[in-house]
Amino acid sequence: MSQQNVFIAGHRGMVGSALVRALEKDPNVRLLTRGRDQLDLLDQRQVTEFFGKHAVDQVYLAAAKVGGIHANNEYPAAFIYENLMIEANIIHAAYKAGVKKLLFLGSSCIYPKFAEQPMREEALLTGVLEPTNEPYAIAKIAGIKLCESYNRQYGTDYRSVMPTNLYGPNDNYHPQNSHVIPALIRRFHEAKARGDAEVVVWGSGAPMREFLHVDDMAAACVHVMGLEREVLSRHVQPTLSHINVGTGVDCTIRELAETVSKVVGFAGKLSFDASKPDGTPRKLMDVSRLSSLGWNASIALEDGLAHAYGWFVANAAQARS
Ligand code: GDP
Repeated sequence: MSQQNVFIAGHRGMVGSALVRALEKDPNVRLLTRGRDQLDLLDQRQVTEFFGKHAVDQVYLAAAKVGGIHANNEYPAAFIYENLMIEANIIHAAYKAGVKKLLFLGSSCIYPKFAEQPMREEALLTGVLEPTNEPYAIAKIAGIKLCESYNRQYGTDYRSVMPTNLYGPNDNYHPQNSHVIPALIRRFHEAKARGDAEVVVWGSGAPMREFLHVDDMAAACVHVMGLEREVLSRHVQPTLSHINVGTGVDCTIRELAETVSKVVGFAGKLSFDASKPDGTPRKLMDVSRLSSLGWNASIALEDGLAHAYGWFVANAAQARS
């Protein structure tokens, strides 16, 4: 195979940086990345010029405005506007420049609030969305439909993957605004350092969640990008083409907290703060489509947490907050 020019949009984020780690050692790949200061993805003219200047063969579209429930509630306009613009600018400019392959990264929040568990790809657009992140989810659904529509009208080969909850290096470790894994890593680490007797976990501990290490996510992205078109077309439809990425296994928040406690080496007890919300009782992906396409997750939760914790300790000063 000749060397491919691969553009990773969003290379400083958690998924984009994992894609850089996954692809930088591949001799067949010449990586192209641009910081926000060099290329504003919200600016159609800049994006068009970028694709006009570089002979891009493949795009990983990992750039997005992301955030937790609080940020989604505070800034709904920013979440829908920025995500729609990034997707539309990149997908259209890629098509105009003749880019053959593109992989769009979505989210499990595209599925209806009351989707049957585990959530299959077919659940898309079958019910109302979770209201707190509806603007973000609508933008991500638009991204899937952009890829499908360009494929149908222009014959491009643009694919989409929908990850479950991700964790790992470069995650957001803010004590209040982050997701559960980085929040607990930080809280157990700081409790251990202070010699606290207990750590408080939000909610009842009963909700169930699925977690995927971001290096597994990057490996899944590279796998899906590399699939032969004929092979892929046997498993997806032109208007139902997205692919779930997860482990297919979930655990309770209590089990998660016990594992984080063990990994961090915290010797005290756990307590549960029932005044904090549990959120949805269960969120699990059906990953049979990806499994039949030949990929399964390989990083066990405890190993992945140990890796994430190692990164957090080594980067505590700049762990994004
Ligand atoms: P969700 O999957 O969209 O609900 O996002 P989160 O990762 O924020 O929360 C997952 C579950 O973990 C919820 O039931 C939370 O109540 C629970 N949880 C327990 N402790 C924490 C914490 O310190 N931070 C967060 N964000 N969630 C926590």
